[in-house]
Amino acid sequence: MSATGNQNQPIPYIIVPNVENAEKLIKMAEIEVGKTGFYTTTTKSDGIRFKCDTMEKHKALLEFCTKLHSSTFVKSSLHEPKRYRIIIKGLHSSTSPDWIKYKLAAHGHTVLYCKNLIGQKSQTPTNTFRVDLEYKENNNEIMDINKIGTYIVNIEKSIAHTSIIKQCHKCQKFNHQTEDCKSREFVCYKCAGKHHSAECSKPREKEGKCANCGGNHIATYQGCPIYKEALENYETQPSTPKKQSHNQMNNATPLLSPPRPKNAPRRQYDLLEQLELLKIFEKNLKDLNEAHRETQN
Ligand SMILES: [Zn+2]
Ligand SMILES: [Zn+2]
Ligand SMILES: [Zn+2]
Repeated sequence: MSATGNQNQPIPYIIVPNVENAEKLIKMAEIEVGKTGFYTTTTKSDGIRFKCDTMEKHKALLEFCTKLHSSTFVKSSLHEPKRYRIIIKGLHSSTSPDWIKYKLAAHGHTVLYCKNLIGQKSQTPTNTFRVDLEYKENNNEIMDINKIGTYIVNIEKSIAHTSIIKQCHKCQKFNHQTEDCKSREFVCYKCAGKHHSAECSKPREKEGKCANCGGNHIATYQGCPIYKEALENYETQPSTPKKQSHNQMNNATPLLSPPRPKNAPRRQYDLLEQLELLKIFEKNLKDLNEAHRETQN
């Protein structure tokens, strides 16, 4: 098995909303793709969520479900804590992923995926590699490694699943916060419409539209090419001294928005804007609660 390539990408969930007869649906799915290699969970919308072991099975099942229920959709399984993503800085760009895999195995780490990152501005390979490790108890210890082969390296936990990349809740763009937004209009994170997200009338099962790339996903989707670009811009920045970067993580310093100068006046909001922001906050909280409840099912 190769350490690179698409077979290591997470397999998304298939979600069939509003299922009338789950027993029948699952039985038909078993006839279609076989009794093993997938499992099901229930969803809040009275639907069934399928998760397959292999991409082949996923594709076959998706085709079957879409034929049967036109409202079938797929959902990224990025939030599954199955892999531990790190960033290694300081290896020559020509270093082979298999060599990195071999070297890290000697420290007890299993590499699932390894990729050299391309600089967004230069469009050339960098000295930075993104590595996904199998989720294990020793994952944190990898940060103590400062040498791979003859290279002096800097290893950091990837920020992909944390909120260091700021996203504005008003205009949905990256690298600034709502309170620093210069846009006059609200943009919806669900449908890209010119209204605030709390007032969106998009039905839950309808595909979103991204305000940043125009793609068929909501603007907070971590698979969005614009989000990935913001992330890679951050990841390919020259490495910071290790101690400092850990402190920054702990203090959750917004690394990408410049610090507000001391004594600088905060932006003033009028009452209407404050109310709108409050509404968004309440809506986001509700969404978060719902998402949390959904994961409990
Ligand atoms: Zn903004
Ligand atoms: Zn909307
Ligand atoms: Zn997008």
